[in-house]
Amino acid sequence: MAGIYIHVPFCVKKCHYCDFYSEELHSNLRTNSLRESPLAISVFVENLVKEIELTNQKLDREIEINTIFFGGGTPSLLNSEQLDTIVNQIHKSFHINEKAEFTLECNPGTTTKEKIRSFIKLGVNRISFGVQSFIDKELEFLQRIHSPEEAERSIIDAREAGLNNISLDLMFSIPGQTIESLDFSLNKAISLQPEHISSYSLIYEPGTPLYYDMMQKKIKIINDEDDASFYDYTINFLTKAGYEQYEVSNFAKEKKYCQHNLNYWNGGEYMAFGPSAHGFMDNVRYWNVRSLQIYNTKLIMNELPIENSEILTDPEYFSEIIFLGLRANGVSVEFVKVRFGIDIMLTAGKIIQDYINLGLLIYGDDKLSMTVKGYPLCDEIILNILNQIKI
Ligand code: SF4
Repeated sequence: MAGIYIHVPFCVKKCHYCDFYSEELHSNLRTNSLRESPLAISVFVENLVKEIELTNQKLDREIEINTIFFGGGTPSLLNSEQLDTIVNQIHKSFHINEKAEFTLECNPGTTTKEKIRSFIKLGVNRISFGVQSFIDKELEFLQRIHSPEEAERSIIDAREAGLNNISLDLMFSIPGQTIESLDFSLNKAISLQPEHISSYSLIYEPGTPLYYDMMQKKIKIINDEDDASFYDYTINFLTKAGYEQYEVSNFAKEKKYCQHNLNYWNGGEYMAFGPSAHGFMDNVRYWNVRSLQIYNTKLIMNELPIENSEILTDPEYFSEIIFLGLRANGVSVEFVKVRFGIDIMLTAGKIIQDYINLGLLIYGDDKLSMTVKGYPLCDEIILNILNQIKI
């Protein structure tokens, strides 16, 4: 069981807070004139197909793929012919489980109902929309290309096109945001009845234009106390609205968790394609070059575009399993016992029991998990548990 991540490195316009690798396209690709996708995308697709082919040739075992995730960048800038070419190559190269989750990240304003229909025909069964906010001023601050109305239209289009697994990304702690405006966005979001919502605090990533603005005190940032209030408000709001929190930042209805991310958080394997994409196979973490130009050049020369790799040591893998598992839907105590020979319920039993008594952790059916009350404190809880265990 493994996942496939494909990084599509193009955006209509760069948002000033974003540190994902993507190249800005200097043409109007916002609407449906995507048949005229520029040469850069066609060349990328050609090389991506080659990367998938070369990777398959180097694999020495059959792998079943359970999740496919197109992220970016803006994967919805691909037209259906380009997506078809990539999907064909994936099917030629790997065994894809017939029930595999197939997610495509879309930016509102880059899709139409027709386009979404064509994506569904190619196997897409889940779309994740980067909405961030339903307030004009907040979207302007984030330098997003879409309006609240376009976001709403895109989600309705996806529903009308027949999709029954839709996710929205929202953001809190945007400068100028208030509890009232957050409440407005959350209300608008749930009125559209997405199956899944991710909610992240705005991060000031070093190297981004937003980070420099913050350093030069050009913006008034939200303080830690208000950030915590926004987060608490979001959790309370969404859980009351029937969304289950199954990870620090992720909420789902009817157990429609993001299977692709669950595989990451459970320490599963995934292959990565596209510039800057990260993969994890056979205990080796690897990542591709963060430059479209170098990526293309390497593949033209029939070389894989891997920049570097590292073997995960047991202590690193152990920490990762505990860290990611507890931030998500729990750690299997039995898996940890079998894989590392450590019974965490014994080795860190006292502190775990204290957290259980405080209602911050819960243990049952082999899983040690965070409670809704525990999520806001999860980093501290996890570090305290890891400090009790020597590996
Ligand atoms: S659209 Fe998404 S990937 Fe592109 S710059 Fe904005 S946040 Fe980054």
